[in-house]
Amino acid sequence: MTVLNINKVRADFPILNEQVNGQPLVYLDSSASSQKPQAVIDTISQYYESMNANVHRGVHTLGTRATDGYEKAREAVRRFINAQYFEEIVFTRGTTTALNLVAHSYGDMVVNAGDEIVITEMEHHANLVPWQMLAKRRQAVLKYIPLQPDGTLLMSDVEAAITDRTKIVSVTHVSNVLGTINDIKAIAAVAHKHGAVMVADGAQAVPHMTVDVQALDVDFYAFSGHKMVGPTGIGVLYGRRKLLNQTEPIEFGGDMIDFVGLHDSTWTELPVKFEAGTPLIAEAIGLHAAIDYLEALGMDNVLEYEHELTRYAYEKMSEIEGLEIYGPGPDARAGLITFNLKGVHPHDLATALDADGIAIRAGHHCAQPLMKWLNQSSTARASFYIYNTTEEVDVLIESLKKTKEFFSYEF
Ligand code: PMP
Repeated sequence: MTVLNINKVRADFPILNEQVNGQPLVYLDSSASSQKPQAVIDTISQYYESMNANVHRGVHTLGTRATDGYEKAREAVRRFINAQYFEEIVFTRGTTTALNLVAHSYGDMVVNAGDEIVITEMEHHANLVPWQMLAKRRQAVLKYIPLQPDGTLLMSDVEAAITDRTKIVSVTHVSNVLGTINDIKAIAAVAHKHGAVMVADGAQAVPHMTVDVQALDVDFYAFSGHKMVGPTGIGVLYGRRKLLNQTEPIEFGGDMIDFVGLHDSTWTELPVKFEAGTPLIAEAIGLHAAIDYLEALGMDNVLEYEHELTRYAYEKMSEIEGLEIYGPGPDARAGLITFNLKGVHPHDLATALDADGIAIRAGHHCAQPLMKWLNQSSTARASFYIYNTTEEVDVLIESLKKTKEFFSYEF
């Protein structure tokens, strides 16, 4: 695994020096939230030390510095996902806010009684509940593309689900539970053939691979900064300029207006039309530093490194008897492994691993319909990122074996 200089990468993340329960921290929960390199932490401090002011308002020097930093961050995001225009990048609080924005603004505009919204059974609640609510508001039909037994989608099922009544198709790019990587470009082609728009939840994709919104041909695409070595509280909604221009904002107030009278108002240009109030200035500038960090590593290297690490972990975990892994095989998945160990509740497992300094996630992973599909009330998940190593995977494997032995002991 030479695509990343792992010692250098690890040295960039101060939290990796932490001890947890007397053991070196083994952080395997980056799908929930990634750790932050010193460069991102420093950028946020420097913002407050030398740039802090409100944006788009004051003519004073600090106001100009803050506005420049904020708008440069938008340009960095545009370049990172290869959007055509800067107006297509709307800063939000995260993926959840971005998807809710689309469902409320564009969704309420185009979806009418009897129309269809098509999603899949592997969606995170953030890409499921907003569409449920939209369907209820507009008396529309929410349809699900079913999953294959290995947690992948068949294009024939995609084609069967999407019809001329479909107005919106919304699918996760990468599943936060199964690790499935969906062919968003192919699904978008089917959606467009029927005149529907394509929305993709990129929360688990943008941190881990090159994402090109023009190549994917998506209409809306959402992701979160905190999963891609950036700060919490910042996310992005990419929207095709033509569609965003047609769409009404859902939040109103400062910055987003053009003219305000006593009874009527007009809105300013994109993208600020969708960014009412004081925006997430330090967070956007922190996200810019995160993008710079990932770009310096190279997203293709990030993908390859995680792929090799995941394959290594998948093989070792498969050797543990009674450990069941959910989702596709190692070559068709992103860098996470969701599993259960027979006879051990995932919460007990996560607690036992924590005693060895290992952080994994246990629960329903904000995907209750998917848990039902898996016939599990909860599962455990180990997720990998640029700073994890094969040695850490070995620590995980040893701790899993030890926990299995402990729970199989007849008292
Ligand atoms: N979609 C997916 C696939 C996710 O994994 C997550 C985060 N767990 C979200 C959406 C929601 O992201 P956020 O909480 O940052 O809004």
